Amino acid sequence: MLLLTERTSAGITVLTDERLRAEHGVLVAFSKRAGGFSTGDYAGLNLAAHVGDDAELVDANRTALLASLGIAHDRERLTTAHQVHGTAIGQVGEDEIGAGAFAEEGSRPSVRDADGLMTVASDVPLMLCFADCVPIILVATKPVVAVVVAHAGWRGALAGIAGAAARALAARAGCETADLVAYVGPHIGACHYEVAPELLSQFVHTFGTIAAAQGRLDLGAVVSESLNGVGVPISSQCSANVCTAERTDVFFSHRAEGPTGRHGALACILGDPR
Ligand SMILES: [Zn+2]
Repeated sequence: MLLLTERTSAGITVLTDERLRAEHGVLVAFSKRAGGFSTGDYAGLNLAAHVGDDAELVDANRTALLASLGIAHDRERLTTAHQVHGTAIGQVGEDEIGAGAFAEEGSRPSVRDADGLMTVASDVPLMLCFADCVPIILVATKPVVAVVVAHAGWRGALAGIAGAAARALAARAGCETADLVAYVGPHIGACHYEVAPELLSQFVHTFGTIAAAQGRLDLGAVVSESLNGVGVPISSQCSANVCTAERTDVFFSHRAEGPTGRHGALACILGDPR
């Protein structure tokens, strides 16, 4: 059974699936904002380089997160993306490992124009950043272990990034989409997501009535349906079930707070213990 539970280490808390780690050597984590070195609007564990926070603090936060997850040795192999609300899934092979690992100016840039990162390589933490948009982690465990981390705001969700990511991952791992497992991280809930009626009807037209809850957009339901639509059954999906706009004490919310930090979704195929 899929289960996201809290794990706290060195003052940093993540939602993770302990069993996936124990049985398949795959680490998945959705970070909370507590801990870290950032202050003011970004207070806590802000992991994003582009939001106006001090790059040195962002780098220190990333280092602290990886250390708390027990993968400090992979710090330079951390790989991030320049997210553009599209549907492109970036392949992370030898050439991309470590792209955007550091926020500091002059550092190697992130993978360009990608709202998903996928790899079959061990010891490569893939990380995307969020403040309301839906974080999605998909994992294939056979025949090849592979992971993808994807970012779905409304544009990406409407364009079907979740389904696209599942198809890409299954193709890479050589399995069926039905064999994948999916983790949907903290995002803005329908309770706080009012959108223009025209946009809401576009979603209902594409994904059915599940897209709307009391006149508001349910991005989580859209992502779940997008995954289900390509063959990842609901029973293989696990959601954090928490609204970022409601819980700014625990997560970052762009809609609720304006300028703020970003929490992260991270996946890593663990190598041999070091
Ligand atoms: Zn809410």
